[in-house]
Amino acid sequence: MRSLTDTFTLKNKMGIPCIGYGTWKTPDGDTALSSVKAAIESGYRHIDTAAAYGNESSVGEGIIQSGIARDELFVTSKVWNTERGYDKTMKAFEKTCKDLKMDYLDMYLIHWPASQHQFENWEELNLSTWKAMTELYKAGKIKVIGVSNFMPHHLKALMETEVTPMVDQIEFHPGCMQDETVSYCKNNGIQVEAWSPLGNGRILEDFTLQEIAQKYGKSVAQLCIRWCLQHDILPLPKSVTPSRIRENAEVFDFILDENDMERIDSMGNFGGSGSHPDKIDF
Ligand code: NDP
Repeated sequence: MRSLTDTFTLKNKMGIPCIGYGTWKTPDGDTALSSVKAAIESGYRHIDTAAAYGNESSVGEGIIQSGIARDELFVTSKVWNTERGYDKTMKAFEKTCKDLKMDYLDMYLIHWPASQHQFENWEELNLSTWKAMTELYKAGKIKVIGVSNFMPHHLKALMETEVTPMVDQIEFHPGCMQDETVSYCKNNGIQVEAWSPLGNGRILEDFTLQEIAQKYGKSVAQLCIRWCLQHDILPLPKSVTPSRIRENAEVFDFILDENDMERIDSMGNFGGSGSHPDKIDF
């Protein structure tokens, strides 16, 4: 990857820009609007939002005000946990499009899997949500469909359907690598996206990461983003700070050598969010 417009190719041959701009916890209103605009001005062409972030209207407005043609952008949203099932997913999709002021989405994801911990019929619930996503995909209203926070046992049933997930967006950063899910996805042609590629800021003070970053004359944030890309995983860094938005895109002028990749890979678990898909209570 050499620039923000370079793409990973998904199993349906669609290209997806290699770094996405994250918007979780970005306050609705002026902050969301101006930071999305700043990201697009800095060259990002991939925006990641969700109904649950409560900022789709301002994200959509920022996109419009950027003046960039809709078809040059890749916009993702997600169906929230309370809207699972065929009918509710259809309605949630309509609302998201209305809020974003768009007539199609580049990608729509199931935000979290229904799990055994909360539902007896968890597999059926995931399948009925997926059925709605598949219909919207076949009708051309969504270009790419996928999931988020799905582990192999959640993905299994969906892999036997007519259109299988193209993307899985999971927590992935130094200190949280989810090896089993990543290798299942790679073996099944599912592109992995990294949420919290900077560990939501928690890992930026780590001494080892600082030492490695210094060697390349880069920040720890840039190191984490580059490390994701070199694992063929698509990072979604979030910032509302214009200088950081630009900094997080300046990751194409260095390459981490094999030793440093391995050093980061072997750091063990730290800095994770602790949100396990089978244990969450939301
Ligand atoms: P990140 O790992 O991207 O970290 C964001 C935090 O790091 C913010 O506090 C930000 O501060 C700070 N930061 C950003 N860049 C820098 C920098 N260069 N130097 C120092 N600090 C920096 O966090 P997120 O948890 O937001 O994850 C990224 C995106 O992934 C989300 O926004 C969302 O789109 C997606 N996501 C998806 C989830 C899912 O369940 N599917 C769950 C969580 C996230 P500031 O903004 O103040 O500059």
